[in-house]
Amino acid sequence: MRQPEQELDALREQSLLRSLRQLDGPQDTTMSWHGEQLVNFASNDYLGLAQHPALKAAFIQGIEKFGTGSGASRLVTGNLPAHRQLEETIAELKNTEAAISFANGYNCSVGTLTALLQKGDTVILDKLSHASLIDGARMSGATVRVFPHNHLAKLEKLLQSVTSNASSQPAEARVLIVTESVFSMDGDIAPLAEICALKEKYGALLLVDEAHGLGVFGSTGMGLAEQLDLTSQIDFHMGTLGKAAGIAGGYIACSASYRQLLINRARSFIYSTAPPPAQAYAAAAALRLISSNEGREMREKLWSNIHQLASQLDHSITPTSAIIPWMIGDTDSAIQLSENLQQNGLLVPAIRYPTVPKNTARLRITISASHTPAQLSQLAQALASSS
Ligand SMILES: *Cc1c(COP(=O)(O)O)cnc(C)c1O
Repeated sequence: MRQPEQELDALREQSLLRSLRQLDGPQDTTMSWHGEQLVNFASNDYLGLAQHPALKAAFIQGIEKFGTGSGASRLVTGNLPAHRQLEETIAELKNTEAAISFANGYNCSVGTLTALLQKGDTVILDKLSHASLIDGARMSGATVRVFPHNHLAKLEKLLQSVTSNASSQPAEARVLIVTESVFSMDGDIAPLAEICALKEKYGALLLVDEAHGLGVFGSTGMGLAEQLDLTSQIDFHMGTLGKAAGIAGGYIACSASYRQLLINRARSFIYSTAPPPAQAYAAAAALRLISSNEGREMREKLWSNIHQLASQLDHSITPTSAIIPWMIGDTDSAIQLSENLQQNGLLVPAIRYPTVPKNTARLRITISASHTPAQLSQLAQALASSS
């Protein structure tokens, strides 16, 4: 039998061994690590909400109202008013008929795809879809097809071949397109209007993961679908409440019937203790904050930070989201650069295989509304002098 040490050695030889980074204190714009202060360009807390006083107060209030734990699955005795209010808030703000919430985005992806899809169905994913979506697609038993990143012509070819093959495709079979609004490791965005048109043309369903769109796009911060006025054309609006919303949780905003189906079929929802009610309570407060005037001001600050950093890094960069990839290629060089930055007080993680394809190692820079102009300049200068 193989020993864990052998597997770890093999990972180490390929520079693919990962280990946990132990922070000395909270996750914030600056963080302490081994006694050193680092400016954080690594987290997905795009609006700085994880340290917002109103959300801390809401979390505490949620505990005082409901206690700490839910005690059981939502389907047993864990369905508390906070969970219902969160789902009503999501549906209201997302402008959908209903919504269902999960403990986190990973559970949400896996639960949703395995609930919606079965053998005989087809799921068509963008090649750069998040691991949780790929895992859910594989576990569902449906036929999994992948189109090259944002490649509309290839997506259409796949839709054509699936829908024209009516003899092998029972009438009730589902065809589901899965993509992200903002891609987590590249920061680019999907051509959502064109994908919606294809979905209409071929009678498919569409799930859009807004993990990195929520809080960043849209007049009320609800994501790229809101910004592009495509809300009603998307069947499943997915997102996480752990990134820009600063709490934790996953959600699907959808029709009431699909919500009911997910409650009945999503195993990660059914066979798991409901998330702490205070989490749901605070997440609802976070969504209200994102959609408020204060949230809009934070979004404006975020975008002004994004433009400042992009123009200081390289005038040819047109940033499309709060994620800027600094491409390196070679894994060791990316790790070396990340370590150099760390010595300069900057936390910018190297992202490598298998999170991204081989030979596309990069630094993944994430920007927050809470960064100061001086912190952004510090990063731009450190990168300029290292290349
Ligand atoms: C982070 C992420 C998830 C998972 O969400 P969690 O709440 O962190 O589990 C799903 N999809 C995408 C695109 C993500 O970036």
